[in-house]
Amino acid sequence: MSGSVPLDRSTTWPYADGEPGPFSYARFSSPTVAAAEDALGELDGGEALLFASGAAASTAVVLALLSPGQTVAVAEGAYYGTAVLLDELERWGLKQKGFDQTGPPPPDADLVWIEAPSNPYLTMPNFEAAAAHPAPVVCDSTAATPLHVRPLERGCEIALHSATKGLAGHDDALVGALVIRDPKTAARLREFRSRTGPVAAPDVAWLLLRGLQTLEVRVARQTKTAKAIAESLRGHPAVELVRYPGFGCLLSFDVADAAAARQVETSTRLIANESSLGGVTSRIEARSRWEGTRVPAGLLRLSLGLEDPADLWDDLSQALS
Ligand code: PLP
Repeated sequence: MSGSVPLDRSTTWPYADGEPGPFSYARFSSPTVAAAEDALGELDGGEALLFASGAAASTAVVLALLSPGQTVAVAEGAYYGTAVLLDELERWGLKQKGFDQTGPPPPDADLVWIEAPSNPYLTMPNFEAAAAHPAPVVCDSTAATPLHVRPLERGCEIALHSATKGLAGHDDALVGALVIRDPKTAARLREFRSRTGPVAAPDVAWLLLRGLQTLEVRVARQTKTAKAIAESLRGHPAVELVRYPGFGCLLSFDVADAAAARQVETSTRLIANESSLGGVTSRIEARSRWEGTRVPAGLLRLSLGLEDPADLWDDLSQALS
């Protein structure tokens, strides 16, 4: 990518000699969205489609590819919002079944949903076992980004991103993405998106394009910092367990209980007490406020940004004491 792609906010484009060209109406596609899709498709090695959010992309996958009565096998401990979304769709006859993603998916699944790495448990899926299943495999690789995990090269049909996180990278764009291996599946999802309308807006696509230009340096810096912080946390007496897959901005760790977790998250000064991950600023939160007893009461999720690693550790260690 060189220079800046122009931002085109049009919602309609003229026909040529009475025939619609590549862009006719913005719900189908638009030049800025298509440019961001090309850039992301190249990174993940497939055809990319942008959605209004990661959750909108997830909804499109299950509604477009499955029918009432069919079952999604979802990795246990994967992003809480995905389980909640599938709960919502149970009213429409969609079934879900949890499974341990470090082993094979259940045989009766019609769609397999893995997460690399899972949020907030940071486990990695067994890609070979998932790919051996006859059902299509969707891999949510939000926390990894294509710099660390390229699901289509590991036998998955679809890579899913909350591009709101590291891909856009600056906490100012809510956007989701699917990157799809098979052109027929991509065409079906594009048709579904055009008919139902959850396409990303051009402004957001432009912000995503700008974010992608610095993805590599941001992720490299975040990984270096996260490795160092994970190591320091492992040596801290107040920390019972640290989960870090060895790459990316995201880690989680356990302190004694809910009260200790509240104390830590409200005592940091440099690290913001807020949700989300993958941005340029670091943030921490106790996940039990959202996920209840699905996670340990003392589990804190930490996303590392671009601040000085020594300042980040000073902040965390004063909060832990
Ligand atoms: N997948 C993962 C791993 C996430 O962390 C999130 C959001 O936190 C989503 C999907 C949903 O994305 P969005 O918030 O952009 O709808």
